[in-house]
Amino acid sequence: MAASYVGRFAPTPSGPLHLGSLLAATASWLDARAHGGRWLLRIDDLDAPRTVAGAEAAILATLEAHGLAWDATVVRQSDHLQHYRAALETLAERCFACRCTRRDLHGATRYPGTCRALRLPRRGNALRLRVDAVSGLHAFDDRVQGRYSQQVAAAIGDYVVWRRDDIASYQLAVVVDDALMGVTHIVRGADLLDNTPRQLHLGACLGKAKPSYAHVPIVAEASGVKLSKHNAATAIDDRAARYNIRNVLALLGLDPPRGDIAELLAWAAQRWRIDRLPRVPVLPGFVAVS
Ligand code: GLU
Repeated sequence: MAASYVGRFAPTPSGPLHLGSLLAATASWLDARAHGGRWLLRIDDLDAPRTVAGAEAAILATLEAHGLAWDATVVRQSDHLQHYRAALETLAERCFACRCTRRDLHGATRYPGTCRALRLPRRGNALRLRVDAVSGLHAFDDRVQGRYSQQVAAAIGDYVVWRRDDIASYQLAVVVDDALMGVTHIVRGADLLDNTPRQLHLGACLGKAKPSYAHVPIVAEASGVKLSKHNAATAIDDRAARYNIRNVLALLGLDPPRGDIAELLAWAAQRWRIDRLPRVPVLPGFVAVS
């Protein structure tokens, strides 16, 4: 199994890492190391409006300070644009243009099919992929959360693969990226769990190999609010790296002896059992420390 493991961490450069993203990065790194696998770093910079100047450099510095070394050169979504277009062309027959705005959809979680039969022009509109009940049923065994299944047609409906601002959707990009990078094991935050059936659906439509998934709990503040870059969550202080890693390992249920970062991580990689993580989407009661 060792040689065939390829993991990855794929932060969006919309701000510095916070404790929740450091936890996901550490879990993914430990899982790769525990399997003798490779761990790749991809910067998800596709969504230019969300990209913040300096965020990528800050993320790389934080990973380095915390001993989370990556293999091979950093990959960027902005290097993959022609691959997204090629994937879209493969799907073109199954897509239709949609002019609905978020407001038109009134926040509905399932797309009601408004533009399905309208034959609108591609230009200036989003493109949605048709999902039917047969191709839309996806179930998988998440290594942390257990069996997860979703009927994409019923829960989500036809979903966007190309945005009206003429860039690939997150779903399309991530499936193309992971396949290009040969990723076999995805370890990421549980906030992305309900995207996975759409990604499995897309992967099947594009004929890509199916990766293994593990969705680790995300970290919430004591108030129960998910830590994210949008709610002024505490950015990681790289000067407290050893303390942060101890904190993350404790949240992952590990209680390491004293040591420097390399020792802590090596100790944790030896004992890593992803199936022992709490099977919850959110780790509650965390009080943000600065
Ligand atoms: N770039 C995405 C994020 O930061 C994660 C992509 C993924 O892990 O699939 O939320």
